[in-house]
Amino acid sequence: MNLDLLSPTQTRKILEELNHQPRKNLGQNFLIDGNIVSKSLRLAEVQPDDTVIEVGPGLGTLTRGLLSAGARLFAVERDPTLAQWLRDSLGDHPAFHLIEGDACDTPVGTFQHTPGVAYKIVANLPYAISSPWMEAVLQQDVLPSRIVVLVQKETADRMTAEPGSKALGSISIYLEGAYQRLPGHRVQASCFYPIPKVDSALFHLSLKDHPYRYSKACRDAIRLIFTLRRKQVGSSAKKFLPEPAYRTWMEALPDLGTTPQARPETLPFPAWRRLDSILLG
Ligand code: SAM
Repeated sequence: MNLDLLSPTQTRKILEELNHQPRKNLGQNFLIDGNIVSKSLRLAEVQPDDTVIEVGPGLGTLTRGLLSAGARLFAVERDPTLAQWLRDSLGDHPAFHLIEGDACDTPVGTFQHTPGVAYKIVANLPYAISSPWMEAVLQQDVLPSRIVVLVQKETADRMTAEPGSKALGSISIYLEGAYQRLPGHRVQASCFYPIPKVDSALFHLSLKDHPYRYSKACRDAIRLIFTLRRKQVGSSAKKFLPEPAYRTWMEALPDLGTTPQARPETLPFPAWRRLDSILLG
């Protein structure tokens, strides 16, 4: 079933009819550029019958593109007015499964994984929840095979950062373990209504053949170490790691091409994996 995308004029008209002021706290900058919808579908390689999760479908611009491409779509929308609009306008579509709620609590909506069924995520993310939601996705029993998301440019920089970059943080490390982080595209502010004050980027992740998933103990340790990112890793790790693990990790660092004097953002990814294996005993 082919659904027309919403034009900029239609987007404004629907908001007026709903008497809905875009809510800043929910990151409501609606996509009004069909090229970005097509680009997102292309990067995600959406095929008929693919299972796709969309976070924050809003008025349904990207949603319509995904349904027209034949996706079986599971969406999570937090705003009650927009969720009602989606039920009214797309509720009859047999492939559309909407849940009204917070995507941080239900990161993949009502999708229940069945063995052998891969799934993808395609979304124009509400910027405030990009990192916590991404962390929640990484805790799913089965990881999505592809993630294509529109995020704030700074968030994309953080998620794709390499060692040595100031942008590198705990989320860059968790994501690198499981995903190939592929180059994205800058997206002009004029592609959204209302126009956001920040730059945006479309970026994509492709699941590695052998994804590495950090243990909870290691994720917690990494997060704490990055709260003191200006300190040498040796002195911050001493505060947060149990003594035997601390000593073993410090002794292992030179073989991993770094030292206890290094700042955490400069550590090569294998050094974090080594910490995980030490914590796991
Ligand atoms: N997908 C639409 C589009 O591209 O035009 C809207 C994208 S807008 C950037 C973000 C959407 O996420 C809004 O519809 C907003 O209400 C919704 N949202 C914000 N926080 C959310 C949350 N915690 N869980 C689910 N949806 C959320």
